[in-house]
Amino acid sequence: MKLPVCKYGDPILRKKGAHVSKVTPEIIQLIADMFETMEANHGVGLAAQQIGQALQLTVIDIRPIEDRPSTLELDGQPADPKSIMPLVLLNPVVKPVGEKVAGSEGCLSFPKLYGEIERPESVDVTATNEKGEHLAFRCGGLLARCVQHETDHLNGILFIDRMDRQTKEELKPDLEDLQAATKAALKKAKK
Ligand code: ZN
Repeated sequence: MKLPVCKYGDPILRKKGAHVSKVTPEIIQLIADMFETMEANHGVGLAAQQIGQALQLTVIDIRPIEDRPSTLELDGQPADPKSIMPLVLLNPVVKPVGEKVAGSEGCLSFPKLYGEIERPESVDVTATNEKGEHLAFRCGGLLARCVQHETDHLNGILFIDRMDRQTKEELKPDLEDLQAATKAALKKAKK
């Protein structure tokens, strides 16, 4: 089932996700709903906070973006990033490896807003997946950027927090409008 995506201004986006210790049938259903929601919105990553659940859970599938390369290493050997797609990460831990590089990012919680964000080019990732399997890999390029963006969400951090001051200043009027619209919609829904 496609779920509504929480927009900037919704306090859930600032909540740190709770550790997911068990893959229950509810979590399996949530994962399926998150993939459906992400694909319907043409996204390549979605965090649980974005569908209103503060959990350490994110789904990723970078395959729709073909013009921004990714790299993957499994056990120190190069591998095809597509081989681990679609990707479910539970309780991910991300460690930066490479130098910081700038790249364009958007977010389904910030419709039509984009900004250049500096992030480490490569990261080491450990997590579990929906089968309870332990995952450990090194990734670079778009996949590394996506993993970092989504893991930030799980800790209540948003991409605007990583923008330089000038970029954020340029987006400020749009951010304020979005925040006000979200708050008004939430207030209306409560009545
Ligand atoms: Zn996002």
